[in-house]
Amino acid sequence: MARYGMMIDTRKCVGCYACRVSCQMQNELPVEESFIKFYEKETGIFPNVKNEIIPVQCQHCEDAPCVSVCPTKATYTTAEGIVLVDSEKCIGCKYCMVACDYGARTQNHETGVVEKCRFCSELVAEGKQPACVTTCISNARIFGDLDDPNSEVSRAIVRLNAQPLRPDLGKAKIYYVR
Ligand code: SF4
Ligand code: SF4
Ligand code: SF4
Repeated sequence: MARYGMMIDTRKCVGCYACRVSCQMQNELPVEESFIKFYEKETGIFPNVKNEIIPVQCQHCEDAPCVSVCPTKATYTTAEGIVLVDSEKCIGCKYCMVACDYGARTQNHETGVVEKCRFCSELVAEGKQPACVTTCISNARIFGDLDDPNSEVSRAIVRLNAQPLRPDLGKAKIYYVR
C-alpha cells in the first residue's frame, strides 16, 4: 500500500499561480476559493535579499487534528494516508478550520462544505498525477509514494534534504526545499 506525499522545491517556484488555477479547475472551486495559498518571505539585507515564495496547502498530517475534532467523521484518512472530506457528512461546523494550524481549509460558500486539498485522489486512483504537479511550469512539485525508497519523490527528499514546513506541528506528508 502506497503512502502518498509531495515535495515542493520553493527555490524553483516563481509564484505564477498555475498550480492554484489548475487546482481550482480540477476541483470546480469558485474563483474566490483556493486550496493553495502563497506566502512570501524576504530574508537578508539590501542589496543581498532573497524573496521566497512558499505554496501551502493541506499537509495531509499523520494523526491530523482536523480528523480528531470532526464531530461527524466527515474528515477521515484513507489507507494511503490522504486526508479527505466526505461532503455528504460535513455539517459545516468549521471545527476543522480552527484545528488546522496551516490554514489549509476553506468553506465552500455555495455548499457550506469545508474543503481542502485532496491530493487529487480521483486522478491518483487512475494512476495519474495531481493537477498542480502536472501544471507546474518549473517542475517545483513531485508527488508519489513516500514508503517506496526508490520513488522519485522519496529520492528527491533525501537528495535535497527536504523538510516538513512545521516539524513542530507533527508529521506531515509534504516536504519542502527552502
Ligand atoms: Fe488537517 Fe490542516 Fe493537517 Fe490538512 S494540514 S491534514 S487540513 S490539520
Ligand atoms: Fe467535520 Fe465538516 Fe465540521 Fe469540518 S466542518 S469538522 S469536516 S463536520
Ligand atoms: Fe489541488 Fe490536487 Fe494539488 Fe491538492 S494535489 S493542491 S487538490 S491540484
